[in-house]
Parts: sequence; structure tokens; C-alpha cells
Amino acid sequence: DIESLSDLKKLAVLGIGNGGIVYKVSHQKTNSIYALKLLRLDQNGAFISHQAVREAEILKRVDSQFIVKCHAVFYTLEGGLCFLMKHMEGGSLFDVLRVRGNFPEDVISGIALSVLKALQYLHGMRIIHGDIKPSNLLINGKGEVKIADFGVSRIVEGTPTPCEACMGAYMSPERVDSERWGGGADYDYYDYGFAGDVWSLGVVVLECLVGHYPLIGRGEKPDLVALICAICFGETLEMPETASPEFPSFVKNCLEKDWRKRGSVEELLAHPFVNRTTSSNMII
Ligand code: ADP
Ligand code: MG
Repeated sequence: DIESLSDLKKLAVLGIGNGGIVYKVSHQKTNSIYALKLLRLDQNGAFISHQAVREAEILKRVDSQFIVKCHAVFYTLEGGLCFLMKHMEGGSLFDVLRVRGNFPEDVISGIALSVLKALQYLHGMRIIHGDIKPSNLLINGKGEVKIADFGVSRIVEGTPTPCEACMGAYMSPERVDSERWGGGADYDYYDYGFAGDVWSLGVVVLECLVGHYPLIGRGEKPDLVALICAICFGETLEMPETASPEFPSFVKNCLEKDWRKRGSVEELLAHPFVNRTTSSNMII
């Protein structure tokens, strides 16, 4: 077991996100490879943010084959926080999509099933992931997809509170609304928080088939207003003519703008799109 950060040697940078830097590290004594996520300190310097503590709490709590395993949480001498995780050799879905362009439906079906199983587990524990997108879906050496990055997640207990996440392209219409207007009395944060993860999955699934962020035209670089319009009011989805009938049915179920009518995780798990009997749905 790894007891301190000094046992680890940095080998490379695996990724840089809003939350911090992720290094590929080796544990000298056992000669094993891990990923180490070093959280960025907040503006005040050395203090660990409320959200960082939340991310650590969630990582310690979750244990599922569909979620990237966290082996240990460390506090650094500078007062920061870092997570030692399983190294996912295949990188993120974002990186793989950039190289591959897009995926065949059977592969996407496997990705969707893995994410749904992860969400079923998390939602069962009252955890909203809140940031499902290609860069937070990681792939291991066997081609299995697992979700990572609980940097904006929250555990729903007691009085629900609005998310503190910043505006993102994978956010659901109801969440965009709450970001703009600060929420409304008619919203139940319990329900729409969970439904927001399903929306994000729908965007990812469609992106995997069409090969670009699907709510805006290919190659367009939208400003924030155009993005909000596309999420909240965009009516047409680009659906390849070659798609099977199950594909648009699944995606439209996820991308239903009214979260009350959107498919639930359980309903989508029963959808024919993710219940194909095929052995070739691994990414590699
Ligand atoms: P952030 O909160 O900054 O977005 P993430 O946890 O999403 O941090 O990690 C940022 C990036 O680092 C990911 O998109 C991925 O490319 C890479 N990464 C993160 N964790 C791992 C891991 N366990 N194995 C391999 N690469 C990883
Ligand atoms: Mg991330």
C-alpha cells in the first residue's frame, strides 16, 4: 500500500482540466503505474475548497466497476489535495474521439450501457455526477469505459441546493435555466439534478456517432448565447440516415427538453439500443 506522496515518481502529464493536473506516476517499490490528480488550490491559496472536500468524500464512498477507482486521498505539504487513481491506459473518450472521428453504433451502445450502469449506481447513492462529457469518460487497457471526475458532483441529502458548476456544453436545459435565473420555486432539485446526467449522456452518445458536438453545426464555434439557445430551444438533431431505428429513439429519450418527460436511468437501461447482443462493442 502506498503511504505517502514521496513514494511516487511523476512520469508524464495525462491531462489538464479545470480541477487540476493529472500525472502518470509510478510507485517505486512495487513498480506499478497510477494516475495522480492534483487539485488546483483555490484563489485564497492554500485552502482546500468545499468542492474539493466533496470530491474526496465521494471518491472514498464509491466502489463500482463502472467508475474509475480511487486508491487513496493525500494532503500535500502546501495544503492541497490529491487523489491516487487507477491509470486508465486508453485515455479519455475526448482523446479517442479526436483520433477516431466517430464510432460505430455497437461501440456507442457499449459506452452508453457503461455510463448508465455507473449512473444507476451513483443515483442509487443519491450522488449526481453533474459533469458527464467525453473528457470525463475514461477507457482502460481492455477498452472498458468508466466515469471519472467528481469535481462538480454532489450528494443530495437534507435540503437540496443548486449546483455551483459553471456553464458547460453538456448541461441540460433545466440546469442552464437555473444557472441563469438562480433556480425557481417550481423546480425540484432532487429530480432535475439526476435527469441532467441523462441529458449529458444523450449529448455524448450523439456526438460519438456524428463526430462533433451535436447541438451545433459541424465546425461552428458558438458563443455562449448561441450555445444556450441550442440547448434550450434547438429543435432539430442531425441524425445520420444510416442510423438504426433504436439510435434516434434512445437519443431523443435522453435529449427530451422537459426533464419530467425524459427517460430515467432505469427506463434507458431497458432500451433496445443498449441491449444488443454483440461481442464487438469494446472501443479497442
Ligand atoms: P478535471 O476536474 O480537471 O477535469 P479530470 O479528473 O477530468 O480533471 O482529469 C483531467 C484529464 O486527465 C482527463 O480528461 C483525462 O484526459 C486525464 N485523466 C484523468 N484521470 C485519469 C486516469 N485515471 N487515467 C488516465 N487519464 C486520466
Ligand atoms: Mg474533467
